[in-house]
Amino acid sequence: MNICAIVLAAGNGKRMGADIPKQFLKINGEYILTKTLRVFQESSVISDIVLVTGEEWIDFCHDEIVGKEGFSKVRHIITGGKERYDSSYAGILQCPNSDYVFIHDAARPYITEEILIRTAEEVQKHLAVAVGVPSKDTIKIVDDDGFVTDTPLRKNVWNIQTPQAFSYSLIRAAYEIMLEEGMQGITDDAMVVEASRLSRVKLVMGAYTNIKITTPDDLK
Ligand code: C5P
Repeated sequence: MNICAIVLAAGNGKRMGADIPKQFLKINGEYILTKTLRVFQESSVISDIVLVTGEEWIDFCHDEIVGKEGFSKVRHIITGGKERYDSSYAGILQCPNSDYVFIHDAARPYITEEILIRTAEEVQKHLAVAVGVPSKDTIKIVDDDGFVTDTPLRKNVWNIQTPQAFSYSLIRAAYEIMLEEGMQGITDDAMVVEASRLSRVKLVMGAYTNIKITTPDDLK
């Protein structure tokens, strides 16, 4: 069985307010992207890695991260797209021989082997899964003017993380439907499967520590 990890590092991280994209900032002297890739490189369930990044970062990733760290599972370093889903689709096209793909944000360096193993087990049963955690806060749905329209039951509300994992044929077909029919406001890959109606998406327990580094507070 072949599982390919698509690591998304093509965002510009505007919300961080730094000169360089957040995945190339350092924590304790190490690039965030290096930390993330190491978990996939050392994982017992991951066969290959496709790294998706900005065109101007390809040489840097090749020389300073993948080459220097000896990340031998990285098969391709490719250019991403304008939106996150463009980057995901570019990655998906690079692994046609995989049985499953795990799509992961480079900006989540605290992913663990335990979560990857759980995700691998669940995706084989359900074909489409997303890692997440039950919401600790009450969530309100609001209208465009900031007035509350609904309060979903907290036990049914989860915060969604990555990786999100799919059978290869399913995620490819779902993306092709989305590209043909168009879709607004896509913020994760599970949404593409949900909209396609090709499969339900099962949630898998992640960890509250599997944060996405987005703002300077997260770096601290
Ligand atoms: O912007 P956001 O924090 O949602 O990005 C999540 C991940 O997706 C980041 O690791 C970012 O580098 C990546 N991304 C991408 N291509 C884009 C936008 C975001 O690979 N066009």
